[in-house]
Amino acid sequence: MSIVYKICPDCGSHDVIDIVYGRLSNGLKKLVEDGKAIFGGETGYYFNEEGKLINLPIYHCQNCSSKWDREDSLAIAYQKIKKIIIKCNTPNNEIFIDINISNREVFYEQIYNNQILKKDFKKVSVEAIEKYLSMLQFVDLLYWKPLYEAESIHNNQWTMTIVKEKSRVYKSGINAYPSNWNAFWGVTCELLSTTIDF
Ligand SMILES: [Zn+2]
Repeated sequence: MSIVYKICPDCGSHDVIDIVYGRLSNGLKKLVEDGKAIFGGETGYYFNEEGKLINLPIYHCQNCSSKWDREDSLAIAYQKIKKIIIKCNTPNNEIFIDINISNREVFYEQIYNNQILKKDFKKVSVEAIEKYLSMLQFVDLLYWKPLYEAESIHNNQWTMTIVKEKSRVYKSGINAYPSNWNAFWGVTCELLSTTIDF
């Protein structure tokens, strides 16, 4: 999995600028003046109380104001997911899934031809939620595109809201899915202890 540093790990925005430190060249000064970079301070080195070098943030998200450096692991971004809401609509099916990562309560409902086919609400284990979060990272969920779209005579739509500490990220598709959708759907069904076909 490649890590793209210039995508915000909190909100997925590509509107990210550099934070620059030290004595700036004229080129960098111009970037700061034009709002295309942020001046972080005279020195690029700070030490904590134990004398260890602190990793200063070198990227700033213009959308949610998050700051991060290369060492900030993607795992942290996934740990910030609080809730995932998924809706899938096909001509015969309406599926609603609500996964509350924070309190481990999960709910799903599948309506098939206007009748409830299956529905459940339960609390899942800490282990199950932790495994789910690591699988979300495995399927690159936070780096899915905001919209997948394809021409089709069918009308299949899905939307996903990823609620994080400070922001919400939206993903959706019209007759199209990310390449690892099936893996995502599989681990989601496993968390819900069911199979949902549509
Ligand atoms: Zn952001």
